[in-house]
Amino acid sequence: MTRGTTVTDELGARLRTYEGRAVAATGRGKDPVNAAMIRHWCEAMGDTSPAYTGPDAIAPPTMLQAWTMGGLSGHSGRSQAYDELFALLDEAGCTSIVATDCEQEYLRPLRPGDEVTFDGVIESVSQRKTTKLGTGYFITTRTDVRVGQDLVGTHRFRVLKYAPARRKPAPQPARRPRPVVNRDNAGFWEGVEQHRLLVQRCTDCATSRFPWLPGCNHCGSLDWDTIEASGEGTVYSYVVMHHPPFPAFDPPYAVALIELAEGIRIISNVIGLPHDKVRIGLPVRLEFQSYDDELVLPVFRALEEATAGGGRVRKEVEAP
Ligand code: ZN
Repeated sequence: MTRGTTVTDELGARLRTYEGRAVAATGRGKDPVNAAMIRHWCEAMGDTSPAYTGPDAIAPPTMLQAWTMGGLSGHSGRSQAYDELFALLDEAGCTSIVATDCEQEYLRPLRPGDEVTFDGVIESVSQRKTTKLGTGYFITTRTDVRVGQDLVGTHRFRVLKYAPARRKPAPQPARRPRPVVNRDNAGFWEGVEQHRLLVQRCTDCATSRFPWLPGCNHCGSLDWDTIEASGEGTVYSYVVMHHPPFPAFDPPYAVALIELAEGIRIISNVIGLPHDKVRIGLPVRLEFQSYDDELVLPVFRALEEATAGGGRVRKEVEAP
């Protein structure tokens, strides 16, 4: 259904041959225009205009369609053309329908006693249109309402007959962003895969460095090896993220700069403690946390200090 517009729309062309054909044989209003229906309408609409009451009352113009309606018993005489048009659309997969809009024109007021007749015609079939609901055709039918030979109003009713758009699959829960792995830091991420936090160390001046870089900031040497961090550290600084929210993150949360026992600092998350309990100096210990099938990241679990029996012990704090 999504062929280019330059391709001939054969179905549309065929549908448009129905333009001008009758929807129904001439119909006759089941009741003449009358004061009782006018009163019910005005009460339902809350319309208190004096034009609709008294000896010179007219019918509210927007009642136009009401005088043509068949009620539960309906009107007979629906045309074959209309059924054929809908059958063509159904066969083409345009099995759904929605009313889109209605336009009315009023040529002269209707008054109690007027007896209406009406004719319906398939006025137009649109080009093929793609909407959020799906792809199909807008079909406009026009009903001309007459009293005697006088045209008193027209009622246009438009529907979209369409093939429902395929539902998009339910969105997957957002995944945490992937780290950017390159030649300079690949060794770090290989370590993380093995649940080891590897720190570069200059083999000339023995300075440790993090994040991973090709050369030593201290002496400029390009020679290095790695040491594995013990995992002991403290919160050197932190911020609490409130805004903006990012997919896969649930604010507020603390982003901490952890100072490791090896003297280098790493940005990570503190787990095992509410964000508002994170503090500078908080002792933490390295863990590796899986976020999904692929992603493992180093995080730091809070180790709160507590006093028990005169000695200082560390106690791991579970998330509340
Ligand atoms: Zn160095």
